[in-house]
Amino acid sequence: MHCPFCAAQDTKVIDSRLVAVGHQVRRRRECFECHERFTTFETAELVMPRIIKNDGTREPYNEGKLRTGLMRALEKRPVSTEQIETLITQLQSELRATGEREVESKLLGNILMEKLKEVDEVAYVRFASVYRSFQDIREFGEAIAGLGDKSIK
Ligand SMILES: [Zn+2]
Repeated sequence: MHCPFCAAQDTKVIDSRLVAVGHQVRRRRECFECHERFTTFETAELVMPRIIKNDGTREPYNEGKLRTGLMRALEKRPVSTEQIETLITQLQSELRATGEREVESKLLGNILMEKLKEVDEVAYVRFASVYRSFQDIREFGEAIAGLGDKSIK
């Protein structure tokens, strides 16, 4: 790490601590040359696979877009922001766990809907109808029937 004050190449770490619930490391450094001190933040780069859309085009994974869609589906539902964030985190872990550099949007949608179903069934149906844009009324009926199965258990 070069010194931002004099551009010397050698600096030493004088303190190192975890911040933001362990996702980031904060380091205090000191320059060997000018003895100025500065702070760096180190975050693991979590690369998300790109999304292959139904028409074959690719787009970068967009967490903001996903969150907006979820918020809309969960409007006026008894689901906390915390639960939404947990859901997004779990989804991202699963997508990364595939080890793929690109995944189909269908896979993302399916994982998401499975998770949503556990959190809130009304939101699940809302989101599913928009996100999957049901091919036909039969598919929509199956989703509803699936909910019925679950409530019997
Ligand atoms: Zn320096």
